[in-house]
Amino acid sequence: MRVIAIDGPAGSGKSTVARRLAERLGLRYLDTGAMYRAITFAALRRNIDPGELDPVAALARKVDLEVTLDAVRVDGVDATIEIRGPEVTRAVSVAANPGVREEMVARQRDWARRHGGGVIEGRDIGSVVFPEAELKVYLDARPEVRAARRSKEVTDLSYETVAADLARRDALDQGRDTSPLTRAGDAVEVDTSDLTVDEIVELLTEQIGG
Ligand code: C5P
Repeated sequence: MRVIAIDGPAGSGKSTVARRLAERLGLRYLDTGAMYRAITFAALRRNIDPGELDPVAALARKVDLEVTLDAVRVDGVDATIEIRGPEVTRAVSVAANPGVREEMVARQRDWARRHGGGVIEGRDIGSVVFPEAELKVYLDARPEVRAARRSKEVTDLSYETVAADLARRDALDQGRDTSPLTRAGDAVEVDTSDLTVDEIVELLTEQIGG
């Protein structure tokens, strides 16, 4: 099984780089952030308060999630657009729920087993989910660069709103007790602020001798 783990904060370039690297290496791609977003979507849709630990963990265990390269379905409902919206983004702290994490990590490991590995992006992939990954990457970029990238994607919110949301999520991701965002000791760290996608993909491919 070939696993490439890509971690880092929002706007660090994970998705773009992970997709391109997967294509280059002929591996499948998994966005684990989309899974936490999908659980948030499922809770909101059922009027379950995303902050309620046990009900949300129970929901995570039973929900039918389909996360593919270009679509996310939750219990058969297409949630591809909504999971990126402000309502879900605001409530995505369900990721701090230990029961939710336990279930998502089990599903991620199962996904990798079924597909013979893959390029998997998230916050805890190299540190917790796949500590034995062939390559662990930690992407980062200057806060203003990350906010500018996100701001380009979410055109209906101001730069200030996006930057404030990013700072709030950084603090939550780094400060939570269960699997906080950290760089695995043996991860290759890349500051993507001043690099092109091609340059980053090239650099990472070299790391695995490809
Ligand atoms: O990557 P993205 O911004 O879509 O992730 C949404 C949220 O899911 C993050 O803010 C983070 O709290 C959480 N997450 C996580 N662990 C992962 C992937 C995402 O806690 N492996």
